[in-house]
Amino acid sequence: MTLDVSVPILVATKNRDKYEELRRLWGDTLPVLQPAGAQYPDVAEPHDSYEANALAKARALCALTGRPALADDSGLEVEALGGAPGVHSARTPSVEATAQERNAYVLRRLAALGDPPRGARLVCVCALLAAHAEPIIERGEVRGLIAEEARGPSGFGYDPIFVYEPSGRTFGELGGALTDGVSHRGNAVRALIKKARLAAARRLM
Ligand code: IMP
Repeated sequence: MTLDVSVPILVATKNRDKYEELRRLWGDTLPVLQPAGAQYPDVAEPHDSYEANALAKARALCALTGRPALADDSGLEVEALGGAPGVHSARTPSVEATAQERNAYVLRRLAALGDPPRGARLVCVCALLAAHAEPIIERGEVRGLIAEEARGPSGFGYDPIFVYEPSGRTFGELGGALTDGVSHRGNAVRALIKKARLAAARRLM
């Protein structure tokens, strides 16, 4: 992949919190920007894999703007629920549900099982795509536990019910800056940057 560092990468998300997290994680590596509202194509998440959904979002934005695009598709996988909501995390229990409703739904489903094991993981797949280049796709994960109840005002989505075990606190309590070093998105972005650098170095050999 050829990445022109003078051209900012556009981030294919309307989610301001996710954008801020990606911007923080890319740090000084490359500038990232959120496209203007009108530039952002509405992309359904029709696929059964995070990889395919992330790539579909990046492709749509790259095709529209001709600029390099970064997209991610993420989800919460709860072991006692057979990995649900997983790739359907944004549609659980419905597309219109709020984050609070999604969290309450997961907690209700777990409660319905009595006293199940509470192991879970957050998964993030990032796709980076530039015109006429092979996409670079990387996955990051973080293991944790589902809390008994939602806790903490920070983060977004499932963060208030996801307990990072070493701290005993939820991602919602810890907040983005504290979780970047261990988070699913942090791990995916670090792997992606490493791969993009390797690809760029290979081109120079
Ligand atoms: P998407 O990747 O934007 O489609 O997100 C799928 C679902 O997971 C949405 O309900 C998000 O709010 C939630 N989600 C995405 N990223 C995170 C995260 O980093 N922490 C917690 N929830 C997330």
